[in-house]
Amino acid sequence: MDCLFCKIVAGEIPSTKVYEDEFVLAFKDINPMAPVHILVIPKQHIADSAADITPENSAAIAHIFEIIAKIAKEQGLDNGFRVVTNSGEDALQTVSHIHFHILGGKKMQEKLA
Ligand code: 5GP
Ligand code: ZN
Repeated sequence: MDCLFCKIVAGEIPSTKVYEDEFVLAFKDINPMAPVHILVIPKQHIADSAADITPENSAAIAHIFEIIAKIAKEQGLDNGFRVVTNSGEDALQTVSHIHFHILGGKKMQEKLA
């Protein structure tokens, strides 16, 4: 499969890692939209997007959210942060390997869309 994030997991494309365990990789977004902008992904390509979350893979997604809380603490995002997942064309998803953006370190804009 020709997947950018699978290549990052494989180390074929370099990334600035923030967290890694057996199941999850977190790395800095190459085009940050906030002072802290981290992508959190399952290492295995278990879903293209949030539209593919099922009873079979939802435990991995729950684990990702535990890690998101841990990273937010480590990054000092005590005043708050946003977690965003773009799913499909209308959401302008560009990489079809499910991922969660952690955005923080500034006051967000009111509009979500
Ligand atoms: P999406 O638009 O699919 O929700 O998010 C994809 C994100 O991946 C974008 O924020 C984009 O900046 C980031 N991105 C694209 N290519 C690379 C890359 O090669 N390395 C890193 N670290 N981030 C990337
Ligand atoms: Zn992938």
